[in-house]
Amino acid sequence: MNNTIEKEKRFRNKFGMTEQRSDNNEPVVMLNSFQHLPTQERPRIKSGMTVKKKIVRNKEKGIQKIRFVVQTLFALLCIWIGVEFYQFIQYLETSGATAFSSRPPGVDGFLPISSFMSFYLFLMTGEIHTAHPAGFFIFFAIVLVSIVFGKAFCSWLCPVGFLSELIGDFGKKIFKKDIKLPKLLDYPLRSLKYLLLGFLFYSVFFLMSTTALKAFLDSPYNLVSDVKMYYFFVEISKFSLIVIGILFLLSIILRGFWCRYLCPYGALLGITSLLSPNKIKRNPVSCIDCGLCNKACPSFIKVDQVKTVISDECTTCLNCVDVCPVADTLQLETVVGKKRLNKRLVAIGVVSTFMLVTGFGIITGKWQNNISKEEYLILYKDMDSFGHPTGTEAVKKFNEDALKNNANTENQSDKGKNK
Ligand code: SF4
Ligand code: SF4
Repeated sequence: MNNTIEKEKRFRNKFGMTEQRSDNNEPVVMLNSFQHLPTQERPRIKSGMTVKKKIVRNKEKGIQKIRFVVQTLFALLCIWIGVEFYQFIQYLETSGATAFSSRPPGVDGFLPISSFMSFYLFLMTGEIHTAHPAGFFIFFAIVLVSIVFGKAFCSWLCPVGFLSELIGDFGKKIFKKDIKLPKLLDYPLRSLKYLLLGFLFYSVFFLMSTTALKAFLDSPYNLVSDVKMYYFFVEISKFSLIVIGILFLLSIILRGFWCRYLCPYGALLGITSLLSPNKIKRNPVSCIDCGLCNKACPSFIKVDQVKTVISDECTTCLNCVDVCPVADTLQLETVVGKKRLNKRLVAIGVVSTFMLVTGFGIITGKWQNNISKEEYLILYKDMDSFGHPTGTEAVKKFNEDALKNNANTENQSDKGKNK
């Protein structure tokens, strides 16, 4: 008997197995790599049996360097837009005394609420609003990217996501690991971004008619919301600075704090990404349960415990795919047809989808807004008096006023026709 136990131990050590006893107390061993399966589904191998699991090394090149280059280029593009916008503001500040520098339409991409409303107006009426049309195309491109490639915008293109990643890497250097909040705190905090998104959805879908939507997009506040955003950061209040400082510190301690818990854009893309037919797939047969994918995942997804990653937090960063040591074990796969997607194809796909949609806006001449520099100068002078409805009551009132104004205008035009 002792001999059998010794033999079994040696066998276990050799193949990295865990011990189990059968119902009639016979020594049975199990492969560690089947630990993800419920006990009754694990293959049982009696001691003395020879088990060979062929491991083919994953020799595919990683994609992280390319991802970093794409993120950097996109961040530089955003900085360039920022510089051009600064020059445009100089023109406004000097009341047109300095040389005119045209407003970069890309700045619309930083107006998510206006862009979302424009998108919704388009769905309702087929009209692309002319105040921030580039915002409409950028919003559409981002949603399309997420429907095709999951939440890839966050990890490939978003400048805030990029910054958040760099801050997270810095934090990891300090703490030597990624700190994760316990589920009890993590889950409620993750719902915050959905609450913010829910409030926006509720205000736009339920409290605003199409007339009110159009009235908001036409309002002087919306026309200069980009300029107002500029001054929000340039003349930042003490309170806002403290909030940003706290967010920065929290992002050092907790990787991706803003993206994981607060970004409503991320929440929206998390939902649309679930529609994506391309998912990270794990082959449980060839997987050796090394857990490297778990450690590499910046979104703390337990990749080694699922066959398919279906998560609103997966950003298709492909970190897990890169670190997997076994060939053809972890990959991005199309659910329909089970076709494997090459990592480079993902990079090309994400960038080209974004470029195609925004490029379409540029080619068709719908990218630029139709506000003249003279109109901007007039709006700029009164800018401080422009506001927007805050809170549900204010949105309801805005809606009522917009409907009344619309009815009055229609009455007047009817009278004009009858005269
Ligand atoms: S599961 Fe993989 S692709 Fe998704 S976020 Fe984690 S590491 Fe990135
Ligand atoms: S990295 Fe690959 S082999 Fe290791 S646990 Fe994850 S899927 Fe399995």
